[in-house]
Amino acid sequence: MIFKSFTLGNLRNNCYVVADEFTNEAAIIDAPEHPEEIIDYIKQSGFTVDYILLTHHHFDHVDGLSALQKAFPEAKVTQQSANIGMIDIQSIPTPGHTKDGVSFYISHEQTLFSGDTLFFETIGRTDLEDSDHAEELASISERLFALPEHTKVYPGHGKSTTIEWEKAHNPYMVPDS
Ligand SMILES: [Zn+2]
Repeated sequence: MIFKSFTLGNLRNNCYVVADEFTNEAAIIDAPEHPEEIIDYIKQSGFTVDYILLTHHHFDHVDGLSALQKAFPEAKVTQQSANIGMIDIQSIPTPGHTKDGVSFYISHEQTLFSGDTLFFETIGRTDLEDSDHAEELASISERLFALPEHTKVYPGHGKSTTIEWEKAHNPYMVPDS
């Protein structure tokens, strides 16, 4: 699997490109503003974009969608599971930060794209209009923390982490002792 990350826009959104090196099929995960750098990278790499996968609807994650769709009109925009070449990308519902929140998991690579659900040593805001704090905690503890410990976690903002690290160090998720 070919994997590249970009950090774009005023809110320093992470955007990820994954591609199957044998078929050159690719998916883009989230669509922050000013995606020109992503478009250039994909065109130079000769990838076909099969999917634009969205973790949730917040503007900082979708502002670049129309530019990406213009550059890659064949790409399907979805929050559902998807295949690119031999790579299975599983959509895991993770509501809480938003009702429509999903994370994307590639089990073969033990790699998770967690959107604004789980960050390095913190979690997504739940003081917004369609947020739900209890749902957010349940999504992380029941769904994301059920993934293998060595799963690498690539969030919508900030640095990457692992499930193992967050279980031990995330102040929102460490059980009271
Ligand atoms: Zn958000």
